[in-house]
Amino acid sequence: MKTLQTEYDQPLASFNTLALPAVAKLFFDTSNEDQLVAALEHCSNIGEIPLILGGGSNIVLSGKPIPVCVRIASRGIRVLSKSADRVIVRVSAGVNWNDLVEHCLAAGYYGLENLALIPGSVGAAPVQNIGAYGVELNQFVERVHFRWIESGKAQNYSAAQCEFGYRDSVFKRQLNDKVVITAVDFSLRLHSEVNIEYAALRQELGDLLTPSPAQVRDAVVAIRRRKLPDPDSLPNAGSFFKNPVVSKKTMQRLCEHYSNVVYYPTSSSDEFKVAAGWLLDQAGWRGVQEDRVGVHREQALVLVNHNNAQGAELLDLAARIQSSILALFGIDLEIEPRIY
Ligand SMILES: Cc1cc2nc3c(=O)[nH]c(=O)nc-3n(C[C@H](O)[C@H](O)[C@H](O)COP(=O)(O)OP(=O)(O)OC[C@H]3O[C@@H](n4cnc5c(N)ncnc54)[C@H](O)[C@@H]3O)c2cc1C
Repeated sequence: MKTLQTEYDQPLASFNTLALPAVAKLFFDTSNEDQLVAALEHCSNIGEIPLILGGGSNIVLSGKPIPVCVRIASRGIRVLSKSADRVIVRVSAGVNWNDLVEHCLAAGYYGLENLALIPGSVGAAPVQNIGAYGVELNQFVERVHFRWIESGKAQNYSAAQCEFGYRDSVFKRQLNDKVVITAVDFSLRLHSEVNIEYAALRQELGDLLTPSPAQVRDAVVAIRRRKLPDPDSLPNAGSFFKNPVVSKKTMQRLCEHYSNVVYYPTSSSDEFKVAAGWLLDQAGWRGVQEDRVGVHREQALVLVNHNNAQGAELLDLAARIQSSILALFGIDLEIEPRIY
């Protein structure tokens, strides 16, 4: 095992896409499982639960000191098995998500193209069951491998055991702060069937009625580049709020008041998902800038750090947005990234 890289009082602003400042008293950078186990053993010895860090694209640092941070930087993609039409690929948690999408496309393994350009690591992807343009991660997960933070012991779960839901999984609930995902097995297609049901994607593809997976990736990338700010030039964490799920009664009430309300069906006929971006637009939040933080002008769901803001400023803006949506629509908005 190469020596475990350990830092003290490590600034974290460059480790999160919102570029928010905080300090990790102890910071372990792990590039393989042995190092991870050593770091977890240290956490257990000092009685601290670490912040597990991937690409830092779905966290909000409030500014409080972080006692211990364990960064997952393990690399590796390997084929476990192939059948006539599927391939099973095992991917280490520290692999960059978009690098995996590109790797799979180049190798002729299909399915992940709609999820192109989502920032972050493979290990974090199952935590909130990443999704975009009509596809969710769980459609391709075979098994998730993890280690228990307290004991360092290895275990794995089938996709069913992961209890995937909309931006949700067992890793956000019962296993929150209890495990570290070390690798994910994906079951991908070997034939080029694509999913272009999502309206904005179909529109982007225009006359291309039977696009290749690479063309779907290109279309997704083009839409994302237009709509979402690049965190390197305007720090953000993607969608700041989840689309709220409301009852049929609430949906009917909204439709009566607003003929243009944007909403989506869910797997239950009694529940609907309201577009949180639409709620923010109606409440006049799009493009609002307050000193160092603001709401993106192209996409109201994205809160941005304009100029070296503190986490508290961003969280204060988020709280006022939540209050206004509650007052206007009677709907509770839930923050999507995890706050530390
Ligand atoms: C511009 C932009 C666009 C985005 N678009 C989308 C989108 O379209 N769809 C979508 O779903 N998300 C989107 N996101 C959110 C984000 O990219 C995903 O949630 C991503 O999976 C986070 O990965 P990460 O490695 O950066 O996680 P981090 O931010 O490092 O961590 C997020 C959470 O997961 C935990 N975690 C991280 N790694 C592990 C691990 N190995 N084991 C256990 N827990 C772990 C962390 O402790 C933390 O609680 C976007 C973000 C940005 C900035």
